[in-house]
Amino acid sequence: MAGSKYTYVRNFELPDPLLPGTFMVFRLDGHSFHRFSDEHGFTKPNDIRALELMDHAAKDVMEQYSDIVLAFGESDEFSFLLRKSATLYNRRQSKIVSTLTSLFTSSYVFRWATYFPDCPLKYPPSFDGRIILYPSAREIRDYFSWRQTDTHINNLYNTTFWALVQQGGESTTQAHATLKGTVSKEKHEILFSRFQVNYNALDARVRKGSTLVREEIPEQSIPNDNGETPTRPDEPLESVAPSSIRMRKRTKPRTKVVVLHCDIIKDDFWDSRLEILSD
Ligand code: ATP
Ligand code: ATP
Ligand code: MG
Ligand code: MG
Ligand code: MG
Ligand code: MG
Repeated sequence: MAGSKYTYVRNFELPDPLLPGTFMVFRLDGHSFHRFSDEHGFTKPNDIRALELMDHAAKDVMEQYSDIVLAFGESDEFSFLLRKSATLYNRRQSKIVSTLTSLFTSSYVFRWATYFPDCPLKYPPSFDGRIILYPSAREIRDYFSWRQTDTHINNLYNTTFWALVQQGGESTTQAHATLKGTVSKEKHEILFSRFQVNYNALDARVRKGSTLVREEIPEQSIPNDNGETPTRPDEPLESVAPSSIRMRKRTKPRTKVVVLHCDIIKDDFWDSRLEILSD
């Protein structure tokens, strides 16, 4: 394409490739969600509608980008793991960060009314995004352990804090003071002895955060082109299907994104999903 005398300004745009062969973690976080959650009346300590909306936006992102193999979310943040071999947008950093952040944000807004039917958005929310590169599976395991430990620490604090305020009649300033310097065991004790709350019996969603993975859909349950589930799943496809259908026989199994609320610090989660940390 012919250039103009102005075209040279393009040369100021520098390439920003991410190192090949490394794991990418993309994390986004709500901008000023302390305020956003106040203005939109989030229930404290955990507004379940808001958490489900975050999960849904993350699912939308994962469904559009097959290089994402895992996602973990808590509060106003989500982390996404992209496989080592990902070549998405030629691994251009700002292209990936801006596109994923923007898709998540627009999905959050797009689906807002489904989760908050009685509370119109008062202003457009935004998220920041970043990518961190990690050389090996060890750091990836530790990264996700770090985030889930953070979920636990924050949730224990917030649960105790809001019990002191909502049931204990303390002001927020008093509740902060009550909790100052307390260790985890003491918070469990306050919850149990003063408010009869067994922390470990709370919803796993708030204690463990949300983990999104791809799970294989069993062949039998995939509907055919007429929307019907095949009635004879054991029949070899070749013997019944016309050649036009045989041509489209999938080589990769179909998957769907599922939301779990489970431990991702121990080995079990990873041992049963070796594909997450493979190339
Ligand atoms: P920054 O812009 O620096 O991220 P922030 O105000 O978003 O500032 P965070 O540390 O990200 O601060 O914390 C997010 C805050 O949003 C939480 O402390 C909490 O007050 C609120 N929040 C997020 N999700 C929920 C939820 N599901 N229920 C209740 N409150 C929530
Ligand atoms: P990329 O993701 O690489 O940016 P793209 O499809 O967005 O790919 P662009 O070079 O950004 O490609 O071009 C945007 C295209 O969107 C235009 O070529 C045009 O086809 C379409 N488009 C954008 N705005 C308008 C508009 N106001 N009216 C009609 N078409 C538009
Ligand atoms: Mg932040
Ligand atoms: Mg935030
Ligand atoms: Mg946050
Ligand atoms: Mg464009």
